[in-house]
Amino acid sequence: MRIILLGPPGAGKGTQAKSMSESLGLVHISSGDLLRDHQNRGTELGVTARDYMKKGLLVPDDLIIDMIEERIKMPDVEFGYILDGFPRTVQQARSLEKALENQGERIDKVANIVVSDQELITRLGGRWICRQCQQPFHEINSPPQIEGQCDTCNGELYQREDDTSEAVVKRIKVFGEQTNPLIEYYSKRGTLVSVDGEGSIEQVRESLIGAVS
Ligand SMILES: [Zn+2]
Repeated sequence: MRIILLGPPGAGKGTQAKSMSESLGLVHISSGDLLRDHQNRGTELGVTARDYMKKGLLVPDDLIIDMIEERIKMPDVEFGYILDGFPRTVQQARSLEKALENQGERIDKVANIVVSDQELITRLGGRWICRQCQQPFHEINSPPQIEGQCDTCNGELYQREDDTSEAVVKRIKVFGEQTNPLIEYYSKRGTLVSVDGEGSIEQVRESLIGAVS
C-alpha cells in the first residue's frame, strides 16, 4: 500500500503519518526527515541541498524528487509507505507517478486532512516549540507541565515569528494556492480521500485508517 498524506500546516500531519505507519505496518517517509538525514550523512544530495538553504533558496524540485525516488526503491518499503511532505507541487506529483510507473507501481490513496482556516489559526497561533528538541506544545490543546519549559528535555519554549496570527493567515493562503492544484490532480485520478481533521488525534487517526483501508 502506497499512501500520500496531505494537510495544511497545523493539521497534525507528521503525528498522523507516524501513527498510521505503525498501525498499518508501513514505512513513514518524511521528506523533511530524509533531507536532514542526507545532510547529517554528508551525501552529495545533502551537501547540494545545504548550499541552496545557506543562500536562503528553496531546495529545487529535482533534488527532492531524486531523494524520494532513491528512498522508495529501498528494500524496506516493499510492503508500502506513507509519504509525508511530498509531493508539494503538481510537477513533483507527475515525477513521482512516472518513477512509480517505471517499477509497475502506483499510489493507492491520497489522504487529505481537512481543517478549517479558523481552526488552523487557533491551533498555529497558540503553538510553542522547544528550542532544544523541537517538540511542539499548544497553550490550550497540549500545554507543557511547567509554563515555558519542555516536558521532554526541560528546554526553553519559544514562539516562532511565523506563528503570529498575521503570519499564520498568510501561510494558510500560500499553502492553499500550492496545494489546491495537487488536490485537483489526485481527485481526477480517483485516489483522493478527504478526512475531517478537526476531531481528537485518535478520532482523526481512526478516520484516516478507515479512509485508506
Ligand atoms: Zn525539548
